[in-house]
Amino acid sequence: MQPIVIIGTGLAGYTLARELRKLDGTTPLVLITADDGGFYSKPMLSNALLRGKAPAELVSADAAKMAADLNAVIRTRATVEAIDTAAHTITANGEVIAYARLVLAVGARPIRLPLEGDGAADVLTVNNLGDYAQFHEKLQGTKRVAVIGPGLIGCEFANDLAGAGHKVSIIGPDPHPLGRLLPAQAGAAVREALSAIGIQWHLGTVVSRVERDGEGYRLLLADGSEVSADLVLSAIGLQADTRLAQQAGLTSNRGIVVDAQLRASAPDVYALGDCAEVNGVVLPFVLPLMEQARTLAAVLAGREAAVNYPPMPVAVKTPACPVVVAPPAPGTSGEWRVQVDADGVRAEFIDGAQLRGFALTGAATAAKQALVKQLTS
Ligand SMILES: Cc1cc2nc3c(=O)[nH]c(=O)nc-3n(C[C@H](O)[C@H](O)[C@H](O)COP(=O)(O)OP(=O)(O)OC[C@H]3O[C@@H](n4cnc5c(N)ncnc54)[C@H](O)[C@@H]3O)c2cc1C
Repeated sequence: MQPIVIIGTGLAGYTLARELRKLDGTTPLVLITADDGGFYSKPMLSNALLRGKAPAELVSADAAKMAADLNAVIRTRATVEAIDTAAHTITANGEVIAYARLVLAVGARPIRLPLEGDGAADVLTVNNLGDYAQFHEKLQGTKRVAVIGPGLIGCEFANDLAGAGHKVSIIGPDPHPLGRLLPAQAGAAVREALSAIGIQWHLGTVVSRVERDGEGYRLLLADGSEVSADLVLSAIGLQADTRLAQQAGLTSNRGIVVDAQLRASAPDVYALGDCAEVNGVVLPFVLPLMEQARTLAAVLAGREAAVNYPPMPVAVKTPACPVVVAPPAPGTSGEWRVQVDADGVRAEFIDGAQLRGFALTGAATAAKQALVKQLTS
C-alpha cells in the first residue's frame, strides 16, 4: 500500500497529520521536510525575546518524537525537487518516492525588496526557526535594529525588540501601522503606544539603499532621510511558495489553487496552509490552516467535508498596544464606524445593519467575544 505523503512539517503539515490520525490510525503516512522536522509554533518567533525563549527552547518535540506520536515516517533535511503527478511519485534529494495521495504544505517565502547598496544582501528575513536562530545570533551585542515593513509581523518584532531593550526604527510606505488590517484611528493608537516604548517611525516612505557603515548599516530612504542600524530586518510580507507546484503543472495563482476539499488540479494531490489558495483566497494564518487541516483529514479518510471558516479574529502580539482584528472579507461592502475613548479604539465594519468585521485596541479588546458572536448571527 502506497503512503499518504505530506510535504512540509510546519503547522499545516503537522496539524493535518494529527487530524488524520484521529480518523485513521493505520494508513502509511510519510512526512518530508527540508528542515529538521522539529515541532514549533511559528507565531512564537515574534514574541520570543519578551518571553525569554532562546531559539532551541521553542521546539516542543523533535522529529523522532513527532514520528512516534503520529505513527509516521518523517524524512528530514530532504528537499522535494519534483512531482510527477501522472506516475504518482515525488523526487526528494534525488530519490524517487511513490505516493497514493500527496499533500503540499510547503508554506510561503518572504518577499524580498529590490534594494540597492552593498548592505542589501545582509538584510534578514524571519519566516522559520532557522531564520530566527540566525537573527537571534546576530542580534547579540547590537543595539539599533531597523525593521522594514509596518505590518503585522514588522510591528510584532518591533515591539518584542524594543521590549528587550533595542532601539527600533520602522520604515514603510503606509500612512499608519498595520495599514492593511486597521482603520486609521486604530493604526494611530498602535503607533502612539509603540512610540511610547521608544520605537521611531519613518512612514510614508521606503528604503531605497542599504549601505554598510562600519559594523552596521546606513539606510537611505526615498524621502531623503537616513536611518542607522546595526541590523536590518525585512518584514514586508510573504508569498505562497508555488514553485514546486508550478513545475509539476498544478494550477497556481496567488497560491496553489485548491477547492473546498483542498483538491489541487491533478488527481490525488492536495494543498493547505500558507501555500494554498482555497476557494480563491490565501489566508496565511493559523486558524484558517486548522480548519483546512480538519477538512482535509476528513476528505483523506473518505468522509464528506468542505472548508467552512468560522470568524477568525487575529490577535496582534504587540503587548504595548493589544490589537484584535477580524478584517472584513476582501470586496465586502460597508464602512468603518469608529469609537475612540479611554479604553482604546473600537471599530466596527458595518454593511447596512450587519457587522462584517472589527478592529479593537487596548482595553477595548475585551469586546472580542461579543463581536465574534455578532459576526456569526
Ligand atoms: C513571525 C511570524 C509570526 C506569526 N504570527 C502569527 C500569529 O500570531 N497568528 C497567526 O494566525 N499566524 C501567525 N503567523 C502566520 C503562521 O505562523 C503561518 O500561517 C503558519 O505557520 C504557516 O504554516 P505552514 O505549515 O503553511 O508553512 P511553514 O511553516 O512555512 O512550513 C512549510 C514547511 O514546508 C517545508 N518545505 C517547503 N518546501 C519544501 C520542499 N521543496 N521539500 C521539502 N520540504 C519543504 C519546510 O521545510 C516547512 O517544514 C506568523 C508568521 C510569522 C512568520
